[in-house]
Amino acid sequence: MRELARTNGVPIHLNLNVRGLHPSATLAINEKSNALREAGYNVYKLGLGQSPFPVPEPVVGALRANAFQKDYLEVKGLGALREAVAGYRRRRHGTDCSADDVLIGPGSKELMFLLQLVYYGDLVIPTPSWVSYAPQAHIIGRHVRWLDTRPENGRRLTARDLEELCKEDETRPRIVILNYPSNPTGGTYSSDELEAIAEVARDYGAVLLADEIYGELHHDGRHESIARYYPEGTIISTGLSKWCGAGGWRLGTFIFPRGLRWLLEAMANVASETYTSTSAPIQYAAVSAFEGGSAIEDYLLHARRILKALGGRLADRLLEAGVALERPEGAFYLFPDFSPHKKRLRERGVMTSAALCERLLEDTGVAMLPGDGFGRPAAELTGRIAYVDFDGARALAASRQTPPDRDLDETFLRTYCRSSVEAVDLICAWLET
Ligand code: GLU
Repeated sequence: MRELARTNGVPIHLNLNVRGLHPSATLAINEKSNALREAGYNVYKLGLGQSPFPVPEPVVGALRANAFQKDYLEVKGLGALREAVAGYRRRRHGTDCSADDVLIGPGSKELMFLLQLVYYGDLVIPTPSWVSYAPQAHIIGRHVRWLDTRPENGRRLTARDLEELCKEDETRPRIVILNYPSNPTGGTYSSDELEAIAEVARDYGAVLLADEIYGELHHDGRHESIARYYPEGTIISTGLSKWCGAGGWRLGTFIFPRGLRWLLEAMANVASETYTSTSAPIQYAAVSAFEGGSAIEDYLLHARRILKALGGRLADRLLEAGVALERPEGAFYLFPDFSPHKKRLRERGVMTSAALCERLLEDTGVAMLPGDGFGRPAAELTGRIAYVDFDGARALAASRQTPPDRDLDETFLRTYCRSSVEAVDLICAWLET
């Protein structure tokens, strides 16, 4: 920790692991897009992956009713909430768990950081993966192993590739993060693929972190957890941010298998010395979200219906324009590969994914994120589209008025998800000019 430089005469001493660290790409693009909008520019916000839908009314009501809750709560989380989370998990996925297996935190992102802090081992992640897993490992000083994926299998991790890596050093401790439906591709895994990956993880004693934050946003409501195939080694991560439209509420949950209770305890000890406990009113409100009920089911049904129609429509438009990508099965992301247009883009001076996104923003006002933040090579012309730039409350109301057997057609999408449709049209027109 040598002195680096001075500002106003004050020496700068920075921990080695945070030198060169930038604001997280997802949050930086959000702030940049907002600043441009405020300055009067027309910006299409496909950068930050934030749910377009409002928090369901019963959950907002519960928060209102609990605004007075002022006490510090238990470090591991409010008992009633831990019970509700376990109950939700038993009901939806048949997971054998109880309140004692649950840890609540201020966002699953913070819980992931704590997990990496207390577990001594390598971090194994497929590329592409969400922008923050690797920086968290770097801050803590963990070794990151990226596992490449191939377009022909939907850029999903394969059991064989995981096994190749594990064989290099069979007893090395590892955390493998599997996030599906995936941020950034919107793809998910079949039962067979999950079972095969689970088998390898078990054979080599790896801890699996199943990041299922988009589980409830599987477009057909058919999310399956890998915990089913490797219950003793899988930690299940979820929260309110995506399915409940409550990213800014910051509430995350981890469910541990009994054999990994020591990890839960170690994380809670660190939590008690850092953030103390998660916001009390938010935890009380979250109980109603995890207890569910018909209003929440109806909300999810329409959210999925809209995301499925919109994601499919945007994917088709990009495919038509000669872009390579997977059609999404969940969440609200697309991960287009513009390499088929490489020659023309090079002629315009676009050689990297970062340059691609910069030029796109300058020329069209469309903000998206470059593939390099997701672990892809800088020169690969990939990027992430978060198709969330529309008024979710209005779209939900309109979907409720549309008979269940009718598709949400082009007119619906152009009316209620206009900005996202227009933004992708602009991307395609930009490529074609
Ligand atoms: N998970 C969201 C995204 O990938 C945003 C929140 C975050 O990155 O902290 O855009």
